[in-house]
Amino acid sequence: MRHLRAATARGLRTGGSGGRSVPAGRSRKDASLHRGALAPAPAPPPARHLFSDPAEVEALRRNLLAWYDECKRDLPWRRLAATESDSNRRAYAVWVSEIMLQQTQVATVINYYNRWMQKWPTLQALSQASLEEVNELWAGLGYYSRGKRLQEAARKVVSELAGQMPRTAEDLQKLLPGVGRYTAGAIASISYGQATGVVDGNVIRVLCRLRCIGADSSSPAVIDWLWDMANTLVDRSRPGDFNQALMELGATVCVPKAPLCGECPVKQHCQARHRMEKELTVASQKLFGKPVPVPDVEDCGVGGCPLCPPATEPWDSSLGVTNFPRKAAKKQPRVARTATCVLERRGCHGAPEYLIVQRPSSGLLAGLWEFPSLPLAQDLQEEEQREVLADHLRAWMGQPVAVGSLQLIGEVVHIFSHIHQTYVVYSLPLDADITLDPALSPSRWVTEKEFYASAVSTAMKKVLKVCEKQRGEESSLGKGSKRKRGPKPQGAGSTGTQLSLRAFLQTPTSP
Ligand code: SF4
Repeated sequence: MRHLRAATARGLRTGGSGGRSVPAGRSRKDASLHRGALAPAPAPPPARHLFSDPAEVEALRRNLLAWYDECKRDLPWRRLAATESDSNRRAYAVWVSEIMLQQTQVATVINYYNRWMQKWPTLQALSQASLEEVNELWAGLGYYSRGKRLQEAARKVVSELAGQMPRTAEDLQKLLPGVGRYTAGAIASISYGQATGVVDGNVIRVLCRLRCIGADSSSPAVIDWLWDMANTLVDRSRPGDFNQALMELGATVCVPKAPLCGECPVKQHCQARHRMEKELTVASQKLFGKPVPVPDVEDCGVGGCPLCPPATEPWDSSLGVTNFPRKAAKKQPRVARTATCVLERRGCHGAPEYLIVQRPSSGLLAGLWEFPSLPLAQDLQEEEQREVLADHLRAWMGQPVAVGSLQLIGEVVHIFSHIHQTYVVYSLPLDADITLDPALSPSRWVTEKEFYASAVSTAMKKVLKVCEKQRGEESSLGKGSKRKRGPKPQGAGSTGTQLSLRAFLQTPTSP
C-alpha cells in the first residue's frame, strides 16, 4: 500500500494528468503541499486509466444521459427533487434519501422515505421531532446513528443557519454533521446544480470497469483517483442527472455479479469490456486455427502501475469485466454472544405484554429499546449462561430470580457490519407486575403491536419472532399439555401455562 501511495503521489496526484486543476473536494492545503514537495518529476499518467479525450467525455455524457432520460426508475425523491420549487426543501428531500440509501436497497428505502417525508416534510418539522420518534421511524433501516445525525444537522440548519441549507458541496460537508463528501456532492449537484461529481459503491464499480482499475478500490489513492475522474466526467449542464445516471447504471446494468454489458449505454467507452472482447476474438481465432496476433500488453507495465491489478492477482479471463473492481480482503467481523430475556406478562385483556429496556445513548444501537440483555463470554456452557443471565436480572430488578425458571428458546444470529452477533434467547413468563429500579435504564411494558412500532432493532424483532414461533408450536401441541420450562422451582405456584411471580422472584435454595 505504501508503494501505491508513493506512486500515486508521484504520478497521479501531482498534476500527472497534465495540469488538471485541483478537483472539487480536495483541500487547498493538500494542493499546496503537493506543489511544495520536493518530489521527483511526475511520471506520465497511465493513459488507459484516464478520460483524457474531451470528445470521448462528451460522448459518454451524451450516451449516459440519453439512457437515463429513457430508463431511469421513478423514485419518490427524484420526483420531489424535479418538481419542488423551494430549494431548501428540495435539498432536504435529497439529503434524507441519500442518507437512507447509504448501504440500504432502494426497494427498502422507498417506504421509509415516504413515511419520513409525510411525518417531517420540512427541516423545521424534523428539527422539532424527538430522538425517540426519529429512532422509531428509522427502526429496521440499520446504522441508527445516521437518523440521529440527520436530525441534529436539521436542528443546526434551523437554529444556526436561519433555516437555509448550505449551497455548495464544500459548505455542506463543512457545516453539517454527518454529511460526508459523497452526500455533500449529491445534494449540491442534484438540488443546486453544482458541477461536482460523486463517488459511491455503484460509481466505484462503473468507473473501475470503464478504466480497468484493478488496484484495491477501497484504498485512499484509488478513491482519490476515482473522485478526480468523477469530477472530470460530470456533465456541466446537468450534473445532478449525470450523477444519478452513473449511480443508476451501477445499480441496474453494471451490477456486481452479472453486468448487462449488451444493454450498457457506455459500453463503447468501457476498457474492461474491450479487453474481454479482445480475448474472445483471440480465443475464437485459435479455435479455428487462424494465425493469432500478438496480444497488446494490457496492463500498464510489469509492477509499475498503481491502478492495475497487482502482479500477484493478474487479470482472470474467467471473470471477464467482473475482474474490476477489486477490494482488499475484508476484516473478519468480531464474534459476539449475548443472552437476552423476553419477560412476558398478561396485559389487561389477556394479550401478552413484553418488557423492553432502553440501551445507552451512545455506542452500538444507541438509544434503541431491547429485551433485557447481557453480553456473554464465548466459552460459557448453557447452565453458566443461564446463571449469569439470572444474576443480571436479579441485580437489575433488585429481586432474586430462579435459574430454572428461565426457558431457553433458541439462538438468533444477526450480522451487523462489523459484528457477527448471536443472541441466546430465553423467555420468562410472569403472572403479575414487577417493580423495576427507576435508577437503572428506562423500561416499559409494551404489547406486541407497540413493540413493533417502537424503536427496536431488527435483531430484537427476530428474537420476538422466535419466541412467538415457539409459543405457537407449544399451543399446537394441545392446550392441556404441559410446557417444558426446565426444572420447576420448589414451591412454585403455577397458573396454567404461566409461572407465578412468586416462583420468578423466589430466593434460590441453598445447595
Ligand atoms: Fe459495466 Fe459492462 Fe457497461 Fe462496462 S460495458 S460499464 S462492464 S455494464
